Amino acid sequence: MPDRTTVAGVAVDTRHFIGGERTASAGTFTDVSPIDGTVLGEISRGTPEDITAAVAAAKDAFPGWAATPRAERARLLRAIADGVDKRLEELAAVETADNGALLRSHRRGVMPRVAHNFRFFAERSLALDHEEFATRGHTHHVSWDPAGPSALITPWNAPLMMESWKVAPALAAGNTAVLKPSEWSPLTASLLADIAAEAGLPAGVLNVVQGPGSEIGDALTSHPDIRRISFTGSVPTGRHIAASAAAHLTPLSLELGGKSPLLVFADADLDLAVDLAVEQYDNAGQVCLAATRLLVDERVAAEFTRRLTARAAALRQGDPRDDTTDVGPVVHPRQLARIDGFVRRALAAGARALVGGGPGTGLYYPPTLLTDVAQDAEIVREEVFGPVLTLQTFTDEDEAVRLADDTRFGLAATVATGDPERAARVSARLVAGTVWVNCFYVRDLRAPFGGSRQSGIGREGGTWSFDFHCDVKNTVTVTKNTGTATRNTVTAPKGRPAHG
Ligand code: NAP
Ligand code: MG
Repeated sequence: MPDRTTVAGVAVDTRHFIGGERTASAGTFTDVSPIDGTVLGEISRGTPEDITAAVAAAKDAFPGWAATPRAERARLLRAIADGVDKRLEELAAVETADNGALLRSHRRGVMPRVAHNFRFFAERSLALDHEEFATRGHTHHVSWDPAGPSALITPWNAPLMMESWKVAPALAAGNTAVLKPSEWSPLTASLLADIAAEAGLPAGVLNVVQGPGSEIGDALTSHPDIRRISFTGSVPTGRHIAASAAAHLTPLSLELGGKSPLLVFADADLDLAVDLAVEQYDNAGQVCLAATRLLVDERVAAEFTRRLTARAAALRQGDPRDDTTDVGPVVHPRQLARIDGFVRRALAAGARALVGGGPGTGLYYPPTLLTDVAQDAEIVREEVFGPVLTLQTFTDEDEAVRLADDTRFGLAATVATGDPERAARVSARLVAGTVWVNCFYVRDLRAPFGGSRQSGIGREGGTWSFDFHCDVKNTVTVTKNTGTATRNTVTAPKGRPAHG
């Protein structure tokens, strides 16, 4: 089996990256491009033994990395960011070949953000508080200690984006990492390993194991030497991982699916509202944050629908490498079949397709807009993860919020309104990790990110990432020598015990 494949003119190592070395498994899996079905490579099919080796490498490298001064760790992360910048065009081209997302967004938006993730967490680690609280005769010193090897598991819809979002804070925190990318998009993780090695990252600090989650996931998430698990993916896999992590009570961060609403009030700028709705077809709808439930005030619903239908029907679907393409293919035949199953069942249950409504050629699923859907219909309740939106109407603010919040998810919500007071009232009532008012997809790495309800557990971003990856410690030191050992001298509110 060859150790390398060439994709979009770029040489990509098809093996794992463990302890600074490239190692192969006996078996492989085939990576196929969703653009045209081209075989991109035969990738090492990891085994539980490969996971054992990778966790051992991460464990060995941990004491040295944890003891490395933060400034030096930050320097290495910045060197990785520089390496990403240097290979930006290659990373963009390989990612597009691998998962079918638009080349122009990889070049202009995604890959620059990958570099930014490394720079941001490098800087943020330097700014971490070392808070001190003085009490009578003592100081309490708070420190952010590295926790150990982190397991990082990522999906295929934004592979390197999610990988950098996880690798950067883990490493900045002083943890070492074992990264398992999705078998549907394994390539850029391998390039990231090259970039990390070229940047001078010590061996074992970042390890990459390729292979199907169903075959190697449990070995990773139930491993006793793994001290953190950061997972982005679907709710069922999240639930499975939580059960697996329970074996060693390994702390975990879950960023899961969504069924987010876009609320369009009668006082909204309708052009903006339609823009926001059309944006939901980006990445062929394979976006966890996508606002796939359009909830529109009945007074403007006809006009909104007329404009949106025209815009959605005019979206250009085709080769994601073409600059004029708006919507590329979905990632995999299994994903296409899943999407089409949802649409077929919705139509059979009485939904009406205003746009699309069935498969196109190859993996190109036409943007679809469904109406006449009941609140309890599968298409309204379940995440499709494809270019499929539903449209429902409401009569007043209360009904809008009720419909928006009537879901087991809580990842994001978007509100289009021209009334700032309504914006404040409605956002306060929505259950979501992120609420966008008159905008969508705006992120700042200092802000928390995550999901409420079944959209996830925990928050990442800014200090929250370090909260998660670190063992936060409080060291209490006596400052005034009283001549005897002291205890229970905590300043407590009157009437409460001073300890506990
Ligand atoms: P998935 O099937 O849950 O897979 C996600 C990752 O988990 C993949 O690397 C997968 O590997 C791995 N995996 C599968 N079974 C595993 C197991 N038993 N143990 C450990 N790892 C395992 O999700 P997906 O279909 O790839 O991604 C789409 C989902 O991700 C959607 O639900 C979407 O909403 C969600 N998502 C959420 C966010 C967020 O930030 N909230 C962002 C992006 C996507 P294999 O692919 O190799 O099987
Ligand atoms: Mg692929």
